[in-house]
Amino acid sequence: MSSVGTTSNPLRVAIIGSGPSGFYAAEALTKKAAIEAEVDIFDRLPTPYGLVRGGVAPDHLKIKSVTRVYERIAALDNVRFFGNVEFGKDILLADLQQQYHAVLFAVGSASDKKLGIPGEDLKGSFAATEFVGWYNGHPDYRHYDFELDKVESVAVVGVGNVAMDVTRILARSQAELMETDIADDALEALANSGVKKIYVLGRRGPAQAAFTNPEIKELGEMEEADIVVPMADATLDALSEAYMESDKADKKDIRNVEILKEYANREPEGKPKQIIMRFLVSPTELIGTDHVEAVKIVKNELYQDDRGNLRPRATDQEETFPVDLVFRSVGYRGVPLADVPFYDKWGTIPNVDGRIVKEFGSEEAVPGMYVAGWIKRGPSGIIGTNRPDAVESVNALLADVDSGTLWSPSQTDRAAMVNLLKERNVRYVTWQDWLRLDQLELERGKVAGRPRVKFTTIKAMLDALDEAKNAAPGD
Ligand SMILES: Cc1cc2nc3c(=O)[nH]c(=O)nc-3n(C[C@H](O)[C@H](O)[C@H](O)COP(=O)(O)OP(=O)(O)OC[C@H]3O[C@@H](n4cnc5c(N)ncnc54)[C@H](O)[C@@H]3O)c2cc1C
Repeated sequence: MSSVGTTSNPLRVAIIGSGPSGFYAAEALTKKAAIEAEVDIFDRLPTPYGLVRGGVAPDHLKIKSVTRVYERIAALDNVRFFGNVEFGKDILLADLQQQYHAVLFAVGSASDKKLGIPGEDLKGSFAATEFVGWYNGHPDYRHYDFELDKVESVAVVGVGNVAMDVTRILARSQAELMETDIADDALEALANSGVKKIYVLGRRGPAQAAFTNPEIKELGEMEEADIVVPMADATLDALSEAYMESDKADKKDIRNVEILKEYANREPEGKPKQIIMRFLVSPTELIGTDHVEAVKIVKNELYQDDRGNLRPRATDQEETFPVDLVFRSVGYRGVPLADVPFYDKWGTIPNVDGRIVKEFGSEEAVPGMYVAGWIKRGPSGIIGTNRPDAVESVNALLADVDSGTLWSPSQTDRAAMVNLLKERNVRYVTWQDWLRLDQLELERGKVAGRPRVKFTTIKAMLDALDEAKNAAPGD
């Protein structure tokens, strides 16, 4: 047999996950002129793009245009898409070992971190992940009911960009939401929402907030919501003041503080909703009998740890105020996959530069197994951060082609995966199918006067494809 990566023996790689890191890995694998590669991308959903479709806020449509780059990658002859195929259920590691030289996991971080406080499991307490998935039409969250019509006050715990997204969507007017690709159900529920107050709670101060400048600026430009920052919350403590005056001060932090001070000096205009930003506070308990009725918070102060980082610690000042709904947005974590090492503490797959290792801290690589994106490094950075991250992993994989440490598949015929999925009655979705679904969603949008109306259940997606096929037989 000729060497791996040649025309007669192409390098065959399975990529699990079609979010940004999956596509950037496919790009890196197919771009190397010296290597012939065949890449199959699998996703558990019939739709591609991971969090670009199911996470990025529906009112940030421009960001979603990054999918055009992914479309070009998927259109390559040596790249195939198998949607609606879940690793661990429809296909297993042993199946991949028979058909590919390597697998690269790019499954993202589908779960969230908990607050670990009493009352967290009461009705009305949710992860931001659930709300985000729901308003973005992710099939896993289609059935959620946040009872927004009965809600007056919401607490969003966390001050990262996801918390900003959640706050904005809760505060948007119906007219603003009509210009987005928000899921239809969410559009309707938000139109009937009783939300008047949205508290955003940050455990550290304004100078340590993770949100970026455009996101905090947007909160001050809402059609139907005033931003309220109590002066006491916008005022910096002595340690933060010292940081801001030092040459270590980050431009983003300086601008965030300026914007928040401007908000603190603003008079509310009497809009129907208020976004109330609180800093140096942590929730310590969610209170209610069977449903969240209030949140207890404690005031924090900052101290400098051994490494010079400013950390929060609780004081004895407490406060309780009524809320009907709580969204925690304090971080994402991955979920373990069958037969794949997992580092539970970080919620990631242990790896060294993208090569999966037996366990965290070990240098011993597991042959043929690689990882990229959020499941490799944790939930950090922007979409573009996943490109160099995926390139690093692919470079490790390509180096291993030369050293001969990849798998030796017995079935290298491209039809083998199609046959296996058919044998198992797995109704997979091809790239052509996805393009058809995409077109149908855009057409539904046109009818509704919106950019796109999404299909939000897998059944609806598959039925729509069947209908389209029946309407154009032989297509
Ligand atoms: C709410 C939110 C908003 C964001 N907004 C922005 C933004 O505005 N701008 C920005 O730059 N970045 C934003 N990000 C960050 C950005 O979305 C991530 O950097 C990026 O999506 C991570 O890519 P990934 O490929 O690692 O994971 P993901 O995008 O999560 O993709 C993982 C894919 O794997 C699939 N998958 C999971 N398990 C399996 C399995 N067992 N079998 C098969 N497939 C599987 C999933 O269905 C999914 O399609 C946001 C993130 C979140 C959470």
